[in-house]
Amino acid sequence: MVSSDSCEGCGFRWSSITASEIPARTSEATEQFVVVVLSSAPFVNNRPAPDRWSILEYGGHMRDVFMSIRERIVRASIEDDSVGSPIYRDERVDLGFYKFDEPEDVAIELGAMSRLFVKTFEALPPDYEERLFTYSPISNARVTLLWAGAQALHECEHHLGDVRENERLLNA
Ligand SMILES: [Zn+2]
Repeated sequence: MVSSDSCEGCGFRWSSITASEIPARTSEATEQFVVVVLSSAPFVNNRPAPDRWSILEYGGHMRDVFMSIRERIVRASIEDDSVGSPIYRDERVDLGFYKFDEPEDVAIELGAMSRLFVKTFEALPPDYEERLFTYSPISNARVTLLWAGAQALHECEHHLGDVRENERLLNA
């Protein structure tokens, strides 16, 4: 399993999350995230510090996180002991895969991928939340589908905090 149960950045605790709260909380965080993407036009591409992405890059990342975790969940539902594909978060940005992203596109894509993730998670057959798989060949962490669902929620709430911090830093 993963070594730590709480995020140092935002305090999220994976073990405190139940399957039933993931859909509504994820949808709520996504809605707020989309509002930030659409309302920060003057500085949506600005990185307020070298170690931070822009609001648009965080939005693109979150869109891809939903796609990535959804695929891991589908595969782990079918294959025993599957291994998820790593997301390579920084490489996607560094190789320019987000360079054609526009706020209006990212807002729609983020909403759609969040919805797709939520629908998939809600559709899991009974007891599938406890199926185990390897989240990534890089970390080798063995996790349940419930943990993966909680991780999608965590990423969304955590990066919602990041884009709000960007707003604060760039408005200062
Ligand atoms: Zn966090």
